[in-house]
Amino acid sequence: MTSSVNRKKIMIVSTGGTIAMVKKGREVVPLDQGSSLVTDIPGLHEIADVELFEFSNIPSPSMTPSLMWELAKKIDDFLENKGYDGAVVTHGTDTLEETAYFLDLVLRTEKPVVITASMRNISELSTDGPRNVLSSVMTAAADNSYGMGVLVCLNDEIHASREVTKTYTSNVATFDSPGYGPLGIVDENSVIYFRKSLTREKIMTDRIEERVAIVKAFSGDDGSILKAVYKMGYKGIVLEGFGRGNVPPQLAQVVEEIINSGIPVVVTSRCFKGRVYPIYGYLGGGADLRKRGAILSEHPLAQKARLKLMVVLGLTNDLEEVRKYFEKHIGGLINEVEH
Ligand code: ASP
Repeated sequence: MTSSVNRKKIMIVSTGGTIAMVKKGREVVPLDQGSSLVTDIPGLHEIADVELFEFSNIPSPSMTPSLMWELAKKIDDFLENKGYDGAVVTHGTDTLEETAYFLDLVLRTEKPVVITASMRNISELSTDGPRNVLSSVMTAAADNSYGMGVLVCLNDEIHASREVTKTYTSNVATFDSPGYGPLGIVDENSVIYFRKSLTREKIMTDRIEERVAIVKAFSGDDGSILKAVYKMGYKGIVLEGFGRGNVPPQLAQVVEEIINSGIPVVVTSRCFKGRVYPIYGYLGGGADLRKRGAILSEHPLAQKARLKLMVVLGLTNDLEEVRKYFEKHIGGLINEVEH
């Protein structure tokens, strides 16, 4: 508990999700009264001065990059201009990691921003929403959360936005950071950090390029889907490959054609641990794709590489400039791969 002298002002920004839903008949639907119950939690107002701003009341599959962009401006305004010390965003779990990572990239503020959600709706036994909000407000109000980036707090664990992903369709312990682990925990009245994310980055832009698609490669893929997506006019494509960033041979030529037309192709991996790296020189291997001009994303999750590409394309569409944002640890110039 904080003394009244240094009580923090925390804004809860609700966007929707199961945390603001109830069961009606056999289905789970958004609450008619919006997110009003999100702050109706015993003990919450003893932690900080908490206010609620309803940004939206949507399930998270309805979240879009333009809404994320609007949300980022709103949060910066609350924290940088309106005197709030921190923000908690309530969100659906399905795309939470995307909004969290997007905010982490573009927010100007370094004040704590914590995203939370619930897996169980308000009418379910042992709903996890109130506890998650309580722990998130504690995290947002904690002095040691300053400068830690946008945090994801559920189930009393605190994760880095860049690292975290939803791993389980239904379990409350769904958020995990494979290969990294949580940054810290909320335990009783304490917010405890074990480490800081060292791979965090901010990319300051005044606009984003929303026409960026994800194409997932599959065994036997003949490249026709990638080609069709390119013809639809996307300004950037994230190609989710296998392992180190390899794709079936038929895709190699298509990738080269797309790049030669000035559209960046950023290669990620279906593996969620480890790095994409230009090791394999066979047709469609990561090193072969890179020689053809593909950009290898060191961040393996396609859904996050896509958001980063949207942000980067808001700044530049020079392919070699774009490459610099994604290949920070791949040494040498193109064709001169470090081993
Ligand atoms: N489908 C819901 C959503 O993402 C799930 C949740 O909130 O947990 O909005």
